[in-house]
Amino acid sequence: MRLDIEHLRTALSAYPRIALLESATPIQKLSRLSALPTMRGCNLYVKRDDLTGLGGGGNKLRKLEFLLGEAIAAGADTLVTWGGLQSNHARLTAAVAARHGLACELILTQSPIRDDEDYRLNGNVLLDTLFGAGVHQLPVGEAAEPYALELVEQLQRQGRRTFVMPLGGSSARGSLGYAACAAEILGQADTFGLQFERIIIPNGSSGTHSGLLAGLTIAGSSTQVQGYSVLGPVGPTLDVTREKTQAVLKLLGSTAVLPTEALQIDDSQRGSAYGAPTDSMLAATRTLASQEGLLIDPVYGGKAFAGLLESVTRGDHSAGSNLLFIMTGGLPGIFAYRTAYS
Ligand SMILES: *Cc1c(COP(=O)(O)O)cnc(C)c1O
Repeated sequence: MRLDIEHLRTALSAYPRIALLESATPIQKLSRLSALPTMRGCNLYVKRDDLTGLGGGGNKLRKLEFLLGEAIAAGADTLVTWGGLQSNHARLTAAVAARHGLACELILTQSPIRDDEDYRLNGNVLLDTLFGAGVHQLPVGEAAEPYALELVEQLQRQGRRTFVMPLGGSSARGSLGYAACAAEILGQADTFGLQFERIIIPNGSSGTHSGLLAGLTIAGSSTQVQGYSVLGPVGPTLDVTREKTQAVLKLLGSTAVLPTEALQIDDSQRGSAYGAPTDSMLAATRTLASQEGLLIDPVYGGKAFAGLLESVTRGDHSAGSNLLFIMTGGLPGIFAYRTAYS
């Protein structure tokens, strides 16, 4: 199939979108790391989605471009969302609301596995308050969604026009942000005269994975997407990702049905739970930091990068393969997980 990036761009242009990124994010080669014998001649590249300026940056900004477009088109004046205490999505929703003069209410749940002082007070939580969001911290074990829906009713009674952001920004509309990223990557690869065999990402709420896969499919690209699940086990994550990818394809006017082999999800890096540090995450974080001066977060990027390093070391990819890891941001998480690194 011929590559048709323009077709993908045209399909995306049907949806309201508010620019939150300054420009295309850079793709850089990890030259020192790629030269290590253990990398078996593979060329490792990173797409720097952590270099997105607003609010400390991260992958949620791409989804928020379409979600904010949707919210403003609906006349919203207040953004409501929820997530874990150290949610990057909550932090970036707060930043985007501040930037666009909207109110923001965040409902944050406690982690069942971490409650040290850095986790409770530092990192994303600290930033949420700087952006001026209303922060509702729930007690241990209380679910966010019912609380959020009640709050929304209350706000509406006060005359506020609320827009509820989906968890992780990963509705089909939000996931369009990563279909747009697929167009961006294909355009950059074309400019460099490079073909990426594989794009590697963490999979949490599956929007990044689904958007990329849908975008690549519509553009007719043969680049594969490998997700490392950090939230759920492989079975349910496959189901959610498949369903979401089909929903994104549909939004973009495609009736394509994903072949089974197009969905690649590995949960070997998840560890005992979402947000639980693992030895391979810590080692991969140190490798990337010490070899290349780059930072990945403990919850998402660290685990996915560990998976990439393991698969390359194991010999899953032939010499000369071009592998693109998306750096999804989440730097504040390092400070919330201080005790895990020491
Ligand atoms: C949310 C998040 C992810 C996962 O993206 P999903 O679309 O939820 O799968 C990856 N990395 C970081 C830093 C994130 O905040």
